[in-house]
Amino acid sequence: MRKLVLPLALVLTVGAFAQTKNKSSKFAEDITAKDLKAKLTVIAGAEMEGRETATPGQKRAAAYIENFFKSIGLQPGTPNGYQLKYPVYQDSLSNAALTINGSVLALDKDFNVSPASFITGSWKANEIIFASYGISDSTTNNFSGLDIKDKWVMVLDGTPTDGDRPNFRAIRAKMTGLTGKGAKGIIVISKDFPKAKPAGLKGNMYITKRTASATPVINISVSQAAAILGKNGAAFADLKSAVRGVYNASLALDITTTTNTLESSDVIGVLPGTDKKDEYVLVTGHYDHLGKRDTVIYYGADDDGSGTTSVMEIAQTFVKAKAKGNGPRRTMVFMTVSGEEEGLWGSDYYTSNPVFPLEKTTVDLNTDMVGRIDPGYKGDSLNYIYVIGEDKLSSDLMKISDSVNNSTMKLELDRRFNDPKDPNRFYYRSDHFNFAKHGVPVIFYFNGTHKDYHRPTDTVDKINFDLMTKRVKLVFYTAWAMANRDNMLVRDIPLPKLER
Ligand SMILES: [Zn+2]
Repeated sequence: MRKLVLPLALVLTVGAFAQTKNKSSKFAEDITAKDLKAKLTVIAGAEMEGRETATPGQKRAAAYIENFFKSIGLQPGTPNGYQLKYPVYQDSLSNAALTINGSVLALDKDFNVSPASFITGSWKANEIIFASYGISDSTTNNFSGLDIKDKWVMVLDGTPTDGDRPNFRAIRAKMTGLTGKGAKGIIVISKDFPKAKPAGLKGNMYITKRTASATPVINISVSQAAAILGKNGAAFADLKSAVRGVYNASLALDITTTTNTLESSDVIGVLPGTDKKDEYVLVTGHYDHLGKRDTVIYYGADDDGSGTTSVMEIAQTFVKAKAKGNGPRRTMVFMTVSGEEEGLWGSDYYTSNPVFPLEKTTVDLNTDMVGRIDPGYKGDSLNYIYVIGEDKLSSDLMKISDSVNNSTMKLELDRRFNDPKDPNRFYYRSDHFNFAKHGVPVIFYFNGTHKDYHRPTDTVDKINFDLMTKRVKLVFYTAWAMANRDNMLVRDIPLPKLER
């Protein structure tokens, strides 16, 4: 086998970083497992109640992060303070009345309104189109011979291949498909009526106001659906063989809702740079999580208490370095965002209303889940991190990432999830994506998923703080290199064609 010859440019990059390494490594020693644990214990503690966006728990977490930024001497990231606030809307259902073929259906016994579609309006129809599962993809077309445009369409819940866990991605694709085909209203036949517990009168939260033409989605019981299809008494499984097509049925639906305006925020602390202070390095992580269901708290220690803690710890380290005369040349922007779990809201809001110009933002280093070990990891599981995004937008990124790592932490930088086409689609699934979409080079640091992912058991006691410390140091060193090099990262690679 041939001897590996390093390209000259890479050798030079390594050399250039080695000079600054001595200084930065002295400061990196301040990043400790003990410090990380102390902060994460608060962030993922019971009093934060799982930090769901636009809830009191989220606001308590925001206040904690804000106070921390203030206490270490970061400047507020907005003219109005540390919190960049954005509106969140939530509708509540005041009234829902559904009549089919003259009989009045009972809420929660015969039907309910999907919380994703609380919208005020009145609808009438004389026919309902039954389209089996309502799926159209490469293998199935439940719409052949049917035109659902401006019609009420009725479909079976889920997908034919659902096991005990519904395939949420397929269901989302199907609902998007139904609205895309112009359905006037959607009726989903659901097995779980009568509801053991009313679904509640509060709808899902959202950030883009709905228009009056939004499509209502209601769920109805199997027996009501069977009556419409002329199969009185049929079970859900029997309806799978019902003939697709147009059924005569008179439907009248009235929904009245009220919209409540709530609020969430991104928390931003700034450390001004020296000779390049009009250019910016962003370090981000999301502080929101899933909140609580009834009394069960989803602590979100790894997701993404770990990234939030990382941002805070790196900020503190940069501040200490500056106090010793080693301030960053570029301005450091430390931002913990909310709304991530709802659909990357906080980073969407920031990148649509940037406080600092995105064209002057050299990089976003995003940490989302950096405290655990992927149980399926193949290499040195105590010494790795998955990195995503480095081969996009800037040909500088991966070179710097590698040279910094090689001269400091020597972690296994595992790029197996880097491809946006990877079935896990991690490239799309955290806040860096909104920056990349706007042309800002990004690196996403991620430990992979595990059995506690999005479960109440994602708790502080399961964090590997020694491994987390190594990862946070790597992000710190990389941020340091990017803050202090002569040039911003070149933007010489077009963003790949993205799907979302
Ligand atoms: Zn999550």
